[in-house]
Amino acid sequence: MAERWTAQWKELYEEVVTSGLCTGCSGCVVACPHDVLGYNDGDGVYKPFHLEEELGPENCIHGEKGCTSCTRACPRFRAWEPEIDSFLFGRTRHPDEMAGISKDIILARASEEMVHKMGQDGGLVSAILIWCLEKGYIDAALVSYLEGDKSTWKAVPGVARTRDEVLAAAGSRYTYSATPMAYGDAVAGGAEKIALVGMSCESSVPPVMAVRKAGKVARRFALNIGLLCSKTFDDAIFPELFEAKYGLKKQDMVKMNIKGVFQIWMRNGDYHEVPLKECHAWTRDGCKLCPDFAAEHADISTGGIGAFNDWTLTIVRTDIGREIIMKMLEDGSIYGRPGDDDPGAIALLRKLSIVSRRRWPEWHSIQDPKVGVPPPKPKAKKAAGAGAQPVAK
Ligand SMILES: Cc1cc2nc3c(=O)[nH]c(=O)nc-3n(C[C@H](O)[C@H](O)[C@H](O)COP(=O)(O)OP(=O)(O)OC[C@H]3O[C@@H](n4cnc5c(N)ncnc54)[C@H](O)[C@@H]3O)c2cc1C
Ligand code: SF4
Ligand code: SF4
Repeated sequence: MAERWTAQWKELYEEVVTSGLCTGCSGCVVACPHDVLGYNDGDGVYKPFHLEEELGPENCIHGEKGCTSCTRACPRFRAWEPEIDSFLFGRTRHPDEMAGISKDIILARASEEMVHKMGQDGGLVSAILIWCLEKGYIDAALVSYLEGDKSTWKAVPGVARTRDEVLAAAGSRYTYSATPMAYGDAVAGGAEKIALVGMSCESSVPPVMAVRKAGKVARRFALNIGLLCSKTFDDAIFPELFEAKYGLKKQDMVKMNIKGVFQIWMRNGDYHEVPLKECHAWTRDGCKLCPDFAAEHADISTGGIGAFNDWTLTIVRTDIGREIIMKMLEDGSIYGRPGDDDPGAIALLRKLSIVSRRRWPEWHSIQDPKVGVPPPKPKAKKAAGAGAQPVAK
């Protein structure tokens, strides 16, 4: 008989929120049926906290009485990876499946020029959302917008219900945006079939809620689109690096991308590159132990690596993901080509997935994310004097 699930906020606080594992995905906040979890997205914190003071920040009176929704909704709590894999795919991943379990890997792009142009890579994500809204697969999508007039570059979760709203949210922001937090607004607006667009960490939220029966919330998630992700940056990177060192003011920026370097386009047409190694000091804390590069639990995972800048590398994982991509290819809403057209992208997908998996901490009693991960190659030793030999790669 399955062991009774008794873990509540007390365990979540100790094992995830304060251990370094918490990504800030907001799954626990959205699932809480008593509305006693808040979410701090100010000053680069991006963490949940307990709103009631009775038992202190580390315990919950509802948890003491038997509520377990938050741990059921957390995609970093205990054996999350094999639990979600088994639920979604009927098996755990093979040790060699570094980028998770998938059906197909293709390159795809929106066929409509406007959508393609406004998208970060191939505009595939926006094309899928528009198509799914039109065909009735979904009635709302949880996406990320820039707040206000966009000049602060503060990424905020929001709901897209129309083509124009989908396009207003297109493109990538490299700071964090807890898109599941827009769930309440979508439901308040009457949405029954909701798509989530989110970073890898966020895209494990719908299936973990479903497999652990976290409550009503999981029922409304009809589609789950993941964005490949190595890390997000603290909001402070804008003033402290881009402006302080390069004189680039965020209110003058119009687009950014990461392709080996941090690329920044300015309103006046200027283009700048900032070396990624200078950016690493602003890596958001919630990303430092994250093992999921490839959004391994999304229906469709999407990324921009590879030789073809204006195509989206597309990993199709589930039946619903395949159904949507196949129908869109058939009716010409998107163009596709085999992933094998870009073997370098497939190799890089594997490599970056390994790099992320290596972050999973050794102190954790559950080591599934690291199963099959090859040890890092020894670095060549610096010549330390006569006779020093470089280590073979
Ligand atoms: C922070 C971040 C890091 C990434 N890192 C990598 C990487 O290392 N390697 C890689 O191959 N690809 C990475 N990607 C994915 C890539 O940038 C594109 O999002 C992806 O290829 C889809 O492109 P598209 O043109 O099809 O999407 P689009 O049609 O442009 O749609 C993008 C969707 O992403 C949503 N979105 C934008 N920013 C955020 C955010 N911060 N949080 C949640 N949702 C957001 C938008 O609301 C929109 O719905 C990253 C994306 C982000 C946001
Ligand atoms: S990882 Fe997500 S669900 Fe888990 S504690 Fe952090 S915010 Fe909550
Ligand atoms: S690296 Fe990306 S997927 Fe992982 S916690 Fe950070 S934002 Fe989430």
